[in-house]
Amino acid sequence: MMTKAYGAQAGDLPLGPLDITRRAPGADDVQIDIAYCGICHSDLHQVRSEWAGTRYPCVPGHEIVGRVSATGRAVTGFAIGDLVGVGCLVDSCQQCEECDAGLENYCDQAVGTYNAPTPDAPGHTLGGYAERIVVHQRFVLRIRHPEAQLAAVAPLLCAGITTWSPLRHWRVGPGHTVGVVGIGGLGHMAIKLAHALGAHVVAFTTSEMKRAAATALGADAVVVSTNSSEMEAQARRFDFILDTVAAAHDLNPFFVLLKRDGTMALVGAPPTPHTAPSAFGFIMKRRSLAGSLIGGIPETQEMLDFCAERGIVADIELIRADQINAAYERMLKGDVKYRFVIDNASLRDQRTEDG
Ligand code: NAP
Ligand code: ZN
Repeated sequence: MMTKAYGAQAGDLPLGPLDITRRAPGADDVQIDIAYCGICHSDLHQVRSEWAGTRYPCVPGHEIVGRVSATGRAVTGFAIGDLVGVGCLVDSCQQCEECDAGLENYCDQAVGTYNAPTPDAPGHTLGGYAERIVVHQRFVLRIRHPEAQLAAVAPLLCAGITTWSPLRHWRVGPGHTVGVVGIGGLGHMAIKLAHALGAHVVAFTTSEMKRAAATALGADAVVVSTNSSEMEAQARRFDFILDTVAAAHDLNPFFVLLKRDGTMALVGAPPTPHTAPSAFGFIMKRRSLAGSLIGGIPETQEMLDFCAERGIVADIELIRADQINAAYERMLKGDVKYRFVIDNASLRDQRTEDG
């Protein structure tokens, strides 16, 4: 089916309108008319080929929400009209140890929502900057928030689950002191979720102007990380630190803030390496450095339901598709509170270059 989309033909070109095709729904497929799609910093890394291996045309977008518009004959859990979401995954092998554990994100054959090999044209997956998408039912999430919140739910599908999964894995809760480094799309969700899980939350930012806003998100304290005396005052206070920063930086000043047996988990994925903590940083307090990749489908549903029960959504700025390139530039400057979300209805007004 012809579908209007927005994407790039090469890493050094801006995004623009594209016509793409979506497969007709197979037996296990759910077709979704996309209402909104969030803009993740991973979209920018990939579309500009900052990570190796971007395939073009590249249509990014993995924070997808909308309504079911068709279902295959074997689809049981979804009906036309349901409010649903799709995150960073659209398929996996569905039979390995990781898939059996509900951690499809770690399946060796996991299929990303965009830029992953697929039998469908053009040979790689195309994401949510599009009017519609067709996804295997296992990878479709149910949205229980009120429809009025739908645009602000979109970022939960990546920023939400990418921060929820490590917070849960490292059992963050009451009595824990948690640091969140970087207050962007991921970081602002980490603050909200860690606060809702009952932890004492300290936000670390390079932006003095985000200080007040971080408190409003649920941070109990805010530290401007370029201020060394503010940093030193936090020494050995943290059980867990989540680093969401999109650029390479020195991990040492944060790592030494962990208590004995504390863990720092990286979710930010800059294209170049960080400066690693010194051996003594690990040895002296038996600290750990770890990483985490998005999350599995069951835990994504758990996070969505947790957020729906508590009225948690992202703080967003809604834009039209023709504002995506400008939004990327603002995201690079940290000038967004805290997630851009595309109103996909605006794609219908777009014209491709040939008509
Ligand atoms: P974002 O909205 O751009 O936020 C990143 C934040 O990092 C900024 O708001 C800024 O916070 C901080 N920062 C400090 N120095 C920076 C610099 N030189 N350049 C850019 N940011 C800087 O990005 P996001 O969407 O939250 O994504 C963050 C990172 O996570 C990206 O690398 C993305 O690819 C990655 N990611 C990983 C996963 C995973 O599964 N592990 C999933 C999604 C995204 P302050 O102004 O507060 O300092
Ligand atoms: Zn993402």
